[in-house]
Amino acid sequence: MSKFWSSFVKELVPYVPGEQPKLANLVKLNTNENPYGPSPKAIKAMQAEVSDSLRLYPDPNGDRLKHAVADYYNVQPGQVFVGNGSDEVLAHAFHGLFQHGKPLLFPDVTYSFYPVYCGLYGIDFKAVALDGQFQIDVDDYVRPNGGIIFPNPNAPTGCLLALDAIERLLQANPDSVVLVDEAYIDFGGTSAIALVDRYPNLLVTQTLSKSRSLAGLRVGLAVGHPDLIEALERIKNSFNSYPLDRIAIAGAAAAFDDREYFEHSCQRVIASREAVIAAMQDLGFEVLPSAANFIFARHPQRDAAQLAAALREQSVIVRHFKQPRIEQFLRITIGAPEQNQALLEALKGIV
Ligand code: PMP
Repeated sequence: MSKFWSSFVKELVPYVPGEQPKLANLVKLNTNENPYGPSPKAIKAMQAEVSDSLRLYPDPNGDRLKHAVADYYNVQPGQVFVGNGSDEVLAHAFHGLFQHGKPLLFPDVTYSFYPVYCGLYGIDFKAVALDGQFQIDVDDYVRPNGGIIFPNPNAPTGCLLALDAIERLLQANPDSVVLVDEAYIDFGGTSAIALVDRYPNLLVTQTLSKSRSLAGLRVGLAVGHPDLIEALERIKNSFNSYPLDRIAIAGAAAAFDDREYFEHSCQRVIASREAVIAAMQDLGFEVLPSAANFIFARHPQRDAAQLAAALREQSVIVRHFKQPRIEQFLRITIGAPEQNQALLEALKGIV
């Protein structure tokens, strides 16, 4: 706190990202990165951009990437927005598409950046309780609201909401923007992008940080009706003309073009996830059904914070949230087979 801070800054409650430890040799299963690395074609495209051309500004619209995304999802480039990580895309959506006066609705157990953006942009919100199985009940979202947002699959639970339920939600809320945050959709769900042509109130965001293994590049996107995209462009062009640099545009577009590598790496993560779930259940853990690249698990006889600390002593880092309802759970990223093995060996010793 300093006397130079504005009263606005004094009141902010910032998001705290998962730890990025500086130590080598850790089994890092705490921030849902992909163990398999980006497409070799994406790396090549990025290397080609490291050249004299960096003296020039990038394309402010990222058209090359918008076309790659539009091609992949069979939509028009005018239905696509791109930004510096999906966090930035989400921030612009909060700023530009959620109405004030009525609360924004999101689940009580969800991505903890949502209330932070509400604080940043002065948006009222109401956290809607997930049911006893940590599932979203669409009927709970039929009430006055200034917008609706949830991740699908949800984070940190990994639970998936079916497309027909999302459709019911859209139909029940024709006057609100419904934002489906699909950060983890490629690990087991069907994208709601299939619905954007029919629902002008639907915005879908995605990231290249997880399934395309480019967390370090910072690229995210949104797909929706051109009117929603225009709102995001207006905010972006009032804030930073060039959120994506030349390297990011080239690498992200090449990653979208390389479908084969992408599909193969998702399948490997999914296969490992199912193996880890089975092994954890053998150790007595209860594991929520996951459609993501992480699992959410609790042990009925072991305290989660103590488990996380004991794992850490063995150099395995997982995520624990000190939050009502979920303080006895651990969120564990699915890693490479040898990392998963290290996790399971460590857990065997502990429980
Ligand atoms: N949404 C959800 C649900 C997430 O878990 C994350 C990753 N922390 C993001 C969005 C943001 O991802 P990124 O900014 O790396 O695109």
